[in-house]
Amino acid sequence: MPYDPDNIFAKILRGEIPCHKVFEDEAVLSFMDIMPRSPGHLLVIPKVPARNLLDIAPDDLAALIRRVQRIALAAKEALGAEGITLQQFSEAAGGQEVFHLHFHILPRWEAQRMTPHPAPRGDMAVLAEQAARIRAVLGQ
Ligand code: AMP
Repeated sequence: MPYDPDNIFAKILRGEIPCHKVFEDEAVLSFMDIMPRSPGHLLVIPKVPARNLLDIAPDDLAALIRRVQRIALAAKEALGAEGITLQQFSEAAGGQEVFHLHFHILPRWEAQRMTPHPAPRGDMAVLAEQAARIRAVLGQ
């Protein structure tokens, strides 16, 4: 399947739709998931137009996963999480709903289960505050 430049994350990358930004550099954009399945649930997307894990060039994937680790560490520190769940879905049969490659970073606590999909829409003020805390650790 070809990459669709009208997908919602492509629109976020072009600044046509707002997001609660956590991190940005030349290779990636990271922002809060609007339907968080755990407190601080965020997404990391490449700037290259990749549909999912199955079509991204290996060097672009390597650049992306380096940022994923850095942002996961920052989210864990900023929110006092005890662990991280990393998720990535490729193609509809794999659970993918938005067809621009993204990694989910989900801060986790032993005593707290993940909210089942679909989670309710997050409180915008809470998402903004969590994004600010993670940005501060990242120096953004
Ligand atoms: P999936 O493709 O299955 O990994 O799911 C897409 C994810 O994107 C879901 O967790 C949605 O809550 C999230 N999402 C969809 N639209 C937006 C948006 N405008 N801003 C942030 N997250 C979004």
